[in-house]
Formats: sequence, C-alpha cells, structure tokens
Amino acid sequence: MAKWDTLSRPIDQGGLGFINTQIVNECLLVKWIWRIAKGGNETWYKLLEAKYMFDGNFFNSICKGTSQFWQGLHKVKHLFKWGAIHKVCDGSLTSFRGDTWLGQAPLKTQFPDLFRICDDPTILVADCLDEDGCCVNFRRSLSQREHESWGELMTSLENVALDQNSRDEVYWVLDSSKSFTTKSLYRFVTNRGVSIPEAENVWKAKLPLKIKIFLWQLKHNKLQVATSLKRRGWKGSAYCCLCGKVETNNHVFFGCSISRFAWCCLRDAFGWARCPTDLSDLMGVSVASGPRLTNHLTTFIFAGFAWAIWRSRNKMAIERCFPGNPLEVIHSGFAFMQKWRPLLGGADQVAIASLGEKLKSWLHNFVPDNVEVSDIV
Ligand SMILES: [Zn+2]
Repeated sequence: MAKWDTLSRPIDQGGLGFINTQIVNECLLVKWIWRIAKGGNETWYKLLEAKYMFDGNFFNSICKGTSQFWQGLHKVKHLFKWGAIHKVCDGSLTSFRGDTWLGQAPLKTQFPDLFRICDDPTILVADCLDEDGCCVNFRRSLSQREHESWGELMTSLENVALDQNSRDEVYWVLDSSKSFTTKSLYRFVTNRGVSIPEAENVWKAKLPLKIKIFLWQLKHNKLQVATSLKRRGWKGSAYCCLCGKVETNNHVFFGCSISRFAWCCLRDAFGWARCPTDLSDLMGVSVASGPRLTNHLTTFIFAGFAWAIWRSRNKMAIERCFPGNPLEVIHSGFAFMQKWRPLLGGADQVAIASLGEKLKSWLHNFVPDNVEVSDIV
C-alpha cells in the first residue's frame, strides 16, 4: 500500500489527508518559537528570557541541560527557518548569518565560503553593522575567492541602515496573513506546500467513494498490478495475461490491447482527435468538433471505463475468465457511466446523456472489420 508520508499529505497535495501527529507536534512547538521571536511583555516570556535567553535571541540560547520543553524547541528550530523572514530595525534580535533578512536565504547559505570561517556564529546584525560599515571577524585571512565574496556581501549591504528606535520584527512567509499558522507549516513540511490541482479533482469528482479511492490508487501507482506486486516479493508472473507484455499501471489502462481497443472505440464514438496514451494525455485530449470536455467530465468518463477495464483485467488475471467479445468492456463502462450519472449536476447529466447517445449509436453501427489493427496491437 501507500507510504505513510503519502497518506498524511493534505488532499490537495495528493495525499489522503490523514493527520501525521508527529509533524503536528513539531509544528505546535515551532509555534512557541514564533511567539518567543515576537517577544512581548507577558510573564511567560519574561521568565523564559531570564532563564535561557541571555541576549534575547532564542537561537543563541543554550540547549544542553535545560528543560525538556526547551530542548524540544531546539530540536525543531530548523523548521522555523523555512518560513521566517526578519525585518531588521535595530538589529538586536536578528542573527547576522543564520536568519533570512537580506535576500531570500540566510547569509550563511548565500555566502557559504565566508561564513564557514566566521569567528562567532551567533553574531547579531547589531554586532556587525554600524555607521562605519560592516565588521565581521574571521578565523583566518581571506583567500582571493573569499575576498570576492566579501565584496559581493558589501555591495548587498550598501543600502542597509539600522534604525535604533525600533526593534526587529519577524514575518511568516508561508501564510498570506504573514503570521505563523500551524497549518501552513504542516503543508510545507508534508509536501513543501505544493498543491497538485489534479489531486483535488479526484476527491471533488461526483463519483462513488470506492471509485474515488480507485482513481487515487491509480494516479499514485498503488494498484496491485504485476510489477508493483513483484516489487513486494510476489512470486507470480510480471507479464500481462492477455498480451504477454510487462504489466504496469499504464499498460493495464492504456497499453494493453483490450484498453487500447476501448479508447479507440471512444475516440471514434466521441470524435476525439486521437487515442490517449496515459492519464495526463487523456486530460489534454482534444475533440475534433464541438466544445472541449471539461476536466471533471473527462474524469467521470475515464472513471467509468477505467473501472470497467480494471474489473475485466482482474477477471482475466485472477479468475482466468477472458471476455468473449472486446465490446464487453465498452458496454460495462457505459453501464457504469449511466449508473453514476445521477450523482452529477443538471448540466453535466445532460452532457453525459448526449455522449451516451453518441456511444449507443456508434455501437449500433459498429462493424468489427472497421477496426484498424495497428491501433490495437
Ligand atoms: Zn496486456
């Protein structure tokens, strides 16, 4: 089955939306770092500051020998860096090399050669910058290349001036509110925050739940076709029981003679320009005449026929029961479309009914001799 990492991604990131409690716990701890970074006058903050943060900066505080809570915060502090951007004012709360405050990444990432030999990794912006310029101590004299990096750093610092009248601030870039949210960090940690629009289409589709799960498994290569069973030590054959080719997901639904025949029939019946060769290709398939099908109607049609192909494949592979007529898959897919049609909205029901009529009349006029053998074999 699918890995826990995949299942615990949010639905629009291609997962099943299960909550990974370990990541949630880490995100909740990062929320504490956020609250500490924002500072304040509350008693809990004053206590933590007095006990652990001698220069007011969490990242320079000691970890060893402190409470479990404080050690827990230190364990997840790298996650905070992914979303925190610092606005430097007096420079007293921002790490010169480790925080993101100039450009899109910390200076230690932008100038790794320089900051590897930096004398004090905990220096704050206020320690380095003053009216006379920038001063950083290095453990040894700089090489030619490091001098060039230093020059680049000085150029990017040209327009930076400290404002002694206000304190540094921190913003959270992973949320549009610019303020920390556990959800935004969770989304980032699980899939770097990237949404996959097609992933959501599956769950929003007007189909029975069983079919949505089937489509999700299909898209994530989680169906038990021969090659995926083989990877898990299955002793059976890796080849398709119908045509003898290696049985992958794509083979079952687009490459096998029975599925190619089904797509050829639909191409002719619906006036598609060509036969789709895989799932993303199917979504982009154009119709020779008339309006283009919407993505959710394409998903609906695909679901009906893919489910019919999968059932037919299972009958062949498991029960050794082969179809007497290749049109059986078309009739079966058509029957599923009819069965699920009431789940659709009014306009979509009409569209599917009209496609159903097209398919029916095409089947009525179908003469097997008309099939191009090269399409199927
Ligand atoms: Zn095959």
